[in-house]
This record gives sequence, C-alpha cells and structure tokens, in this order.
Amino acid sequence: MTGKPGKSTKSIHAGRLEPRPEGAITTPIFQSSTYEYHGEDYHNVGYLRLSNSPNHLVLGERLAALEGTEAALATGSGMAAISATFLALLSTGDHILVQDCLYGGTTSLLNHEMARLGISYTPIDPQAPATWAEAVRPTTRVVYVESLTNPLVQVADLEAVVSFAKEHGFVTVIDNTFASPVNFRPAELGIDLVMESATKYLNGHTDICAGVVAGSADHVSQIKITLDHIGGVLDSHACFLLERGLKTLPIRVSGQNAAALRIAEFLEAHPRVAKVNYPGLANHEQHHRATRLFDGFGGMLSFELVGGVEEAEEFLGKLTLPAHAASLGGAESLIVRPAAATHGGVPPEERARSGISDSLIRFSVGLEDVEDLVEDLETALG
Ligand SMILES: *Cc1c(COP(=O)(O)O)cnc(C)c1O
Repeated sequence: MTGKPGKSTKSIHAGRLEPRPEGAITTPIFQSSTYEYHGEDYHNVGYLRLSNSPNHLVLGERLAALEGTEAALATGSGMAAISATFLALLSTGDHILVQDCLYGGTTSLLNHEMARLGISYTPIDPQAPATWAEAVRPTTRVVYVESLTNPLVQVADLEAVVSFAKEHGFVTVIDNTFASPVNFRPAELGIDLVMESATKYLNGHTDICAGVVAGSADHVSQIKITLDHIGGVLDSHACFLLERGLKTLPIRVSGQNAAALRIAEFLEAHPRVAKVNYPGLANHEQHHRATRLFDGFGGMLSFELVGGVEEAEEFLGKLTLPAHAASLGGAESLIVRPAAATHGGVPPEERARSGISDSLIRFSVGLEDVEDLVEDLETALG
C-alpha cells in the first residue's frame, strides 16, 4: 500500500503476519506458553507471560498504528495497563497530579497500593490550569488525566495539560477509554502515554478484559518490563478476540457517535429530562474544545430526570433494550445509575461536589437500531 492508510484499513491490516501462516487470513491463535530457544537474550525468549507470542506482536503493532504512537502493548486488563505504568514511572517519594474525577479503579489504586508504596497524589481541577502550579512539588513526576470523564463526559483542558507538563518536565499519561483512538489520538496532541481499557470500545463485544499502553518505544519497553514482572499479560485467546474486535472498531464507533447524538438530542427535548451531558450538544460546557480535539463525541452520555431517585429507578425498570449493568463500549446498550453502582463507593458529599447527583443516569449507547432505542426510552419515560 502507498500513501497513508485510513483508520479502518489500519484496524484490519496493520502489523499482520507476513507471510500469512499457512495462508490463514486471520491471525491464528498461538496457544503455546513457551517457544523454542534460538540463543536469544533471556528477556526475549518466547514465553507467554512476556507478551511476545505472534498474537501479542501483531496486536502491539495494530494498536500503535491506531493510536498513532511508535509502540503499543496489549495488557491483561485496563487496570493492568494503568498499574504497570504507575509502577514503571514512579518510585517511593514521588508525587503525581491527577484529574479530580477519575475512574474508580484508578482512584482506588492510588489510595491503596500507591499510597502504601509512598507515592502520593494531588487532585487538580482539569478545567482550571491556573490552579495547577500550586499543586506541584519538587517530587512531582507525572500528570494523569482522562479524555472524557465518567459519568459527566467532561473534557479536560488537554492542550493546557500538554504545555504545563512540558514546561515542568512531567510525563503526561491519559486514560483514553471513553473516546477510543477513533475519536481521539492523544499522542497527536503531544501526550506521552495513552492507556485504554480495551474491555470497552476496542474489543467492543463485552466478552473479554484487556488493556493497552501506547507511547514511545522507550516508554512502552520500560512499562513492558514492569508488566512482565507483575504478570499482567493478555491471554492468547483474548488477543485473538481483541484483534477480531479491532477490525470493526472504526465502523462501530462512528455508528455509536451518531446514535448517541440522536439520543442526546431526543432526551434534551423531552419534558421529563432535566439535563443531558453529552459533548456533542452545543450547550455542553466543553463543546468547542471537544469539536476542536475529537473526530467524534463518543457513545457515552448521562442525564437527569425531573424528579429524584425513585423516578430514575422506575424509568430504569421500564426499559427493555438497554441492560441495567456497569461497563460500556459494547454492542449491547448498557444503562446504570452511577450513585448506586460505579460511584457507590464514593462518599455522598464527594459525589455531590463533583456534580454526580443520586438520580443521574449513565448510558452507554450500543449498536441497536437507534430508533428502537429512542422508542424504548420514550416508552419508559411515559
Ligand atoms: C473500565 C475502565 C478502566 C479499567 O479497565 P479494566 O479493563 O476493567 O481493567 C479504566 N478506565 C476507564 C475509563 C474505564 O472505563
């Protein structure tokens, strides 16, 4: 191929094995824990935990092509990607700046394992760059943000994150799970390391747990050594499923972008809906930033009904298509009330402070016909 391949071509072909083994069009599953020794350096012997089977190597190249980075590494889960990255970049006494409303598992990792290792953090308001400098300490090493927050789908001042970190010599790390590389490639903006929970959009079929670390070859190989030590490898069969899922990533995400916008507009116009959070709506606080940075606004939205928790629960109970479940990014629409589920562990005052009311509903728009979803929502709203 000459010229620059597009997203779909990359998602199907980048890094594929040449020649194709036995002519197989899809990468076969290399279900072998160890490989014949050919005199290589000990760190490069073929061994499943070292993420160097042909399945892993193909996935690494494909993910790097999609993220627009020099290298990438598939991991056993999104949390394996995030923990290996923190452990590789930070040592006892180090400090990190984190966006103040993080994915719950990441907050928990910081409050437990990282705290026990003597690695501290300060939350920063991602919309207020002028306040960041006062949080910096001589031991600050990393700035950690998310491309879209959960569940309010806010967009941090990512351009300011990049320039602030450059000025101070910090490594920037972003969790890009909600956007996916179809809608946003943080490396193009100058962010150093990109994490994804591939459990969500990248795989897209709600059937495996996987993660991604993408960045420069130096950063990725440094993190891979830590991942090898903590054993956060992705199994070969899950590699196969993730590679299969990736082939439809661009087409799935563009369908979800369009469906989520249609649903957000429907909800916004409905008299029983008090507020809709979706970066594709013109009244979203960071709509202009999202338009400038992203190729699409994603498949995640949240909203509040007129009324309280009881009305929200009654509404959830009446839906027939979206399943009442946590997680996101799959073919099946999923709906959840964060205060009762994903954010149940966050103290109520803290939830209120970050704008997550008890009646807020989060919707992961799936791949069903959007008019069927709208009809289901309309019936449940009554
Ligand atoms: C799900 C999720 C994670 C964790 O990923 P796992 O694959 O469950 O380990 C991290 N960040 C975000 C934003 C997520 O949605």
